[in-house]
Amino acid sequence: MNEDEKKLTTELKAAFAAQYGDEEGVRLFFAPGRVNLIGEHTDYNGGHVFPCALSIGTYAAARKRDDRKIRLFSMNGKSDSFEEFDLDDLEPAGKSGWTMYPLGVVWTFGLRGMLPETGFEMAIYGNIPNGSGLSSSASLEVLTGFVLKNLYGFDVDGVELAKIGQYSENNYNGMKCGIMDQFASAMGKKDHAIFLDTADLTYEYAPVKLDGMKLVIANSRVKHQLTDSGYNDRRRTCEEALEDLKKVTGISALGELTPEKYEELKGAIRDDDHRRKAKHAVYENDRTIRAIKALKAGDIEGFGKLMNESHVSLRDDYDVSCPEVDVLAETAWTIPGVMGARITGGGFGGCTVAIVRDESIERYIEVLGRTYKEKTGLEAEFYTVTPGDGPAEL
Ligand code: ADP
Ligand code: MG
Repeated sequence: MNEDEKKLTTELKAAFAAQYGDEEGVRLFFAPGRVNLIGEHTDYNGGHVFPCALSIGTYAAARKRDDRKIRLFSMNGKSDSFEEFDLDDLEPAGKSGWTMYPLGVVWTFGLRGMLPETGFEMAIYGNIPNGSGLSSSASLEVLTGFVLKNLYGFDVDGVELAKIGQYSENNYNGMKCGIMDQFASAMGKKDHAIFLDTADLTYEYAPVKLDGMKLVIANSRVKHQLTDSGYNDRRRTCEEALEDLKKVTGISALGELTPEKYEELKGAIRDDDHRRKAKHAVYENDRTIRAIKALKAGDIEGFGKLMNESHVSLRDDYDVSCPEVDVLAETAWTIPGVMGARITGGGFGGCTVAIVRDESIERYIEVLGRTYKEKTGLEAEFYTVTPGDGPAEL
């Protein structure tokens, strides 16, 4: 543990003791958030993604109880952040709020024959912004799964933890996300990004060797309404476009099409909006495959260009950017030393990720922060990050 982590976990244990009486037998866990370098909105279309876990995420202090109560507390929440539940009453109906993320994971374990034999109590703290596209939700789901695995000795590996997290978010929270976020959190590896084919979950770790450069995240700190419904809406549009295409070709996912094949067949898609959304899914998948080739060849410039193209496609074809995030990306492109910049995460607000030369980072943050303030009246937030490991007991 580094100094920051020591301080943070000491505070977390103190909060645990204040909430639950004492800290006897408490165990500490962590699961990371993630940033997606390229391959956005491709994961529910059977395409490729290229995310990495971050060294920021969510921490838990947890221990078993003797009864059947589940007690949950978040240090990030307000006064209503403590809630108590019963292991025998986990159905989602009537539940709301942040506790749905951990509870949904317990519920999903139960569906898979792994209902804990006793209750537990847990206090959490996240040092990752919520609702900004860095997947605090997936980090909380993977964290909960990892806590259950370790407290009760369940035999679940990282891929299974990711699947449980996604199932839970889809079916308990009603958010129809793909597998990327949970996979990146559960399977993270220091200094590597994960090139994942979401069609069959085959994956490969690729070293992110950015000699003399770093990943810099800029948080717009806006979260537009309809984030979840907009996301679910995009997913439905892609499914409908796929249905149209299935009438003329034997595919089971948009990710199976090359751009050439898409151009040949696109006339089968019923309307222009559906066509633009499907186009993004197909071209973004192709960009992701080309991006990893560029990275492997040490061609960061080429990788950066593909990041920029990804942003344009998400802005113009997939319609998931917003004016504030466009200011962040488009301004970034004009700053010297920036190899590439794009919106990252589901969209409708949130963050951009950029690759910036070390010597340009200070100026990047200064110029981007100032321009963003001038154009939107808002303060951006910046994080210089490196790819981190998956979940761990501390
Ligand atoms: P993202 O995953 O991009 O951060 P989401 O909207 O998917 O955004 O998830 C954010 C939600 O996850 C929060 O509104 C909250 O309900 C829950 N959450 C995440 N981390 C915490 C935390 N540390 N404490 C309480 N709730 C959290
Ligand atoms: Mg999320």
